[in-house]
Amino acid sequence: MIRTTMCLCRECRIEVEGDPAASALCSCDNCKRRTGAATSWSVYFRDEQVLKREGPLTAFARDPGLPPGASWFCATCGSTLCWKGEGGPLPGHTGFAAGCFNDPTLPVPTAAMNCAQAMPWAVFPPDCALFAQLPAGVPDPLS
Ligand SMILES: [Zn+2]
Ligand SMILES: [Zn+2]
Repeated sequence: MIRTTMCLCRECRIEVEGDPAASALCSCDNCKRRTGAATSWSVYFRDEQVLKREGPLTAFARDPGLPPGASWFCATCGSTLCWKGEGGPLPGHTGFAAGCFNDPTLPVPTAAMNCAQAMPWAVFPPDCALFAQLPAGVPDPLS
């Protein structure tokens, strides 16, 4: 199964194959600022599952407080589509802003990170494991 993610203006498109290794939510400060949403939804695919990238994807190197890495956003409309970070929980994987797939067949998130920073009205899926912060030893992967 080929899945296609795209930015708001549709100029940037990335194709991935198969199912993601992880589907997670995060309510940290960085995710709020990256997305403009109360909680981010991320899916992680193995690098080999990423088949094609097209459009004016531009790298943004993350700040020194985070593990080394970069996010890629559309130079035209600004949507962040994906990121990679060294020292993240899933080496050899690329993180994707899951909402940009607009795909109801993506797996339900199984973990919600940084719930202590979530909005007081936030609601999470019933079987989702809730973590007040990031689980011990996991650098912030989702920004
Ligand atoms: Zn765009
Ligand atoms: Zn986050």
